[in-house]
Amino acid sequence: MSETCVFCKIVNGELPAAKVYEDARFLVFKDIHPAAPVHWLAIPKRHIARLSQAEEGDRELLGDLMLAIGRVARDQGLEAYRMIINDGAGAGQTVFHLHAHILSGREFGERLV
Ligand code: 5GP
Ligand code: ZN
Repeated sequence: MSETCVFCKIVNGELPAAKVYEDARFLVFKDIHPAAPVHWLAIPKRHIARLSQAEEGDRELLGDLMLAIGRVARDQGLEAYRMIINDGAGAGQTVFHLHAHILSGREFGERLV
């Protein structure tokens, strides 16, 4: 937990968020500035600043995060979606609490990959 981290504040209830899914280890909530009709952020509740700071001991957490994202997407009826993780300011990361963007509901015409 980081006292200055905005996503930690959402996790501990200091800041509100439109929650899509929550369990003991993960939270999925709506992005405050959506870039698509569906734009969620999926996070581990435990503060990991960025993907490249994850360690071997985070293996199960990160694997289960992927499974949770797939399960929530299916349960919420997302037929297709794109997942993006920005790792570092140079890649556009602005909140340094690991999060996956889940984007759906628009054409992704200009593909990056
Ligand atoms: P990044 O640029 O770090 O990959 O993504 C951070 C995302 O967090 C941005 O899309 C931004 O709109 C979103 N965001 C920043 N602050 C808040 C907040 O307080 N609440 C919510 N729901 N989203 C936020
Ligand atoms: Zn945090």
